[in-house]
Amino acid sequence: MSPAVAVVASLNVDHIVLAPRIPEPGETLMGFSTSRELGGKGGNQAVAAARLGAEVAVIGCVGQDEDGEEYREALLAEGVDVAHLRTSALPTGRAAITVDAEGVNSIVVVAGANADIPAAAAETAIGELPGLRVVVGQLEAAADATERAFAAARARGVLTVLNTAPVGDVAAKLLPLSDVVVANEVEFRQLTGQDPVDGLRRGSAELFAAGCRWVIVTLGAEGCAVLDASSSVHVPAVAVRAVDTTAAGDSFVGALAARLAEIPGEPTTADVVAACGFAATVAAVVVTRHGAHPSLPTLAEVLDA
Ligand code: ADP
Repeated sequence: MSPAVAVVASLNVDHIVLAPRIPEPGETLMGFSTSRELGGKGGNQAVAAARLGAEVAVIGCVGQDEDGEEYREALLAEGVDVAHLRTSALPTGRAAITVDAEGVNSIVVVAGANADIPAAAAETAIGELPGLRVVVGQLEAAADATERAFAAARARGVLTVLNTAPVGDVAAKLLPLSDVVVANEVEFRQLTGQDPVDGLRRGSAELFAAGCRWVIVTLGAEGCAVLDASSSVHVPAVAVRAVDTTAAGDSFVGALAARLAEIPGEPTTADVVAACGFAATVAAVVVTRHGAHPSLPTLAEVLDA
């Protein structure tokens, strides 16, 4: 196997509570149920792409604990290359997730081992993946590892996709190394100071000036906007009844990467728009199901949807 997609990945164990609503600060609320699942934006993106048929490698780090061992086994079972998954003295990353009755979530993440991916190892990993076409990063994994991996990918003409989630100052360092930037509405606002509808072109212009080539702003049930330096296209969402939006954005990014990896040579804006249409179809399946990994569809399930 020669992976076409590498994800510099955060890998978390999610502790999920279903509740009537998200509690106010200082409030204690009675919930409906709890569950424990594998998640983390990077892990979700990697598994999403793998289930859609892409050959995927994870560049990441888990703790020397049962959570870490479970995550490694789960990735292997998905056919994901774990040759560049390391272990750290820090515990495996963890997230506390509350999902309300409308399917809206609120999440707190503790990075743990995700902050411990050695930057030099991330760079080396890119060099050891000869079939690579796309590298994906997000802001839950060690920023310097993502930066080095993106720089190595760029130097080889491998496409870099940055999901600016959760947004932070580190994004600024990565933007010049990112070909595609995927931000949700909140992240776009934080990143550019512009409204994702009225200020879409103005805000994106800042991201183009920083060095990226395409900006994708995901707009939940409204779909997404795809911009290059001179054009803007709206890609509608697929109308479904959402029950849990956990991993909607991650599945979108994983599906986007899987599709972009199939494009021979340099993608065009039309290729990126088409890949977003596919990603919207995948994400629409995800929001009709609960959880992160359990909600990620196979290609056959997407084609049947
Ligand atoms: P995030 O999960 O990162 O906040 P979004 O909420 O913008 O990202 O969702 C990402 C993508 O998932 C959207 O662009 C859309 O294609 C799809 N999606 C999200 N919510 C819905 C929904 N309620 N119905 C259909 N598709 C949805």
